Amino acid sequence: MALAVVTGAGSGIGAAIAHHAAKAGYDVAVWDLDADAASRVAAGIGDNATARQVNIASAESVTQAFDVLPEPPALLVNNAGIVRFGPLLELSEADWRVVLDVNLTGTFLVSREAAARMIAVGGGSIVNISSVNGVSAAPNAGAYTSTKGAINTLTEQMALEWGPLGVRVNAVAPGLIDAGMSEPIYADPQVRSLRQSRVPLGTLGSAEDIAGAVMFLASDTAGYVNGQVLIVDGGLTKS
Ligand code: NAD
Repeated sequence: MALAVVTGAGSGIGAAIAHHAAKAGYDVAVWDLDADAASRVAAGIGDNATARQVNIASAESVTQAFDVLPEPPALLVNNAGIVRFGPLLELSEADWRVVLDVNLTGTFLVSREAAARMIAVGGGSIVNISSVNGVSAAPNAGAYTSTKGAINTLTEQMALEWGPLGVRVNAVAPGLIDAGMSEPIYADPQVRSLRQSRVPLGTLGSAEDIAGAVMFLASDTAGYVNGQVLIVDGGLTKS
C-alpha cells in the first residue's frame, strides 16, 4: 500500500483527511505536535496508521520523522496550521513569527523532505491546505492571511519546479468550516447564523468536505491538475 503523510492530523480537518486517506487505501502517517492527539487519531484508523509527534517548524524534527518512514510517501498533505488573532498595529513580533514559522516555513520544510523522496522513486502528490483568507484579508488575522497567500504562491512554485520531476502540487482553500480552529467561533449561535447566511449554499462546510477535495486532488482523476488552488467554500468568495 502507498503511504500518505498528513501533518496536523491530530485534530479537525487533518484528522478527517487522515481517515479519508486510509479509506482510499493509503497507509497513513499521522503527524502532529500533540502526540496524544496523533495517537488517538491513529488508533481510530487502525493498523494501517502510525502516530508521531512532529514539529513541522523544526527542520530537525521533520527530517527525523521522514528518516524513520518505511518508504517514501506517495502523498503529503500539509495541513498543520495555527492562527494568532490581533490587528496588525497590536500584533507582537512573537505572534507574527510563530504563525510564519508553522504555516509557511513548516510547509516548506516538510514539502522539501517529501519531494526529494518522491522524486527519487518517480513521483508523488502534495496537497497544501490554504484558506479563503489566502485570497482575501480577514479582520484581526494578518499573520494568518499572509501565510495563506504565501502558501498559494508556494504551491505554484513547487508545481513549477517539481512537476517536471513527477510531483504534482496543489492546494485546497477551505472557507467557513465547522471544525478545528473555527469550532469555538461558530459555537456562538449568532455568529454561526450570520456567517452561514453569507454562504450561497447556506451552510458551513465540514472537515469531510475538505477531506473529499484533498483526496480528489491526490487521486489519478486529477492527474493533469498541477499548481492549482481549489477553493472549497460553498460559493462564499463568489457572493
Ligand atoms: P486544528 O487546530 O484543529 O488543527 C491543527 C493541528 O495542527 C492541531 O492538531 C495542532 O496540534 C497541529 N499543529 C499546530 N502546530 C503544529 C506544528 N508546529 N507541527 C505539527 N503540528 C502542529 O485546526 P483545523 O481547523 O483543523 O485546521 C487545519 C488546517 O485547515 C489549517 O492549515 C488551517 O489554517 C486550515 N483552515 C481551517 C479552516 C477552519 O475553518 N477550520 C478554514 C480554512 C483553513
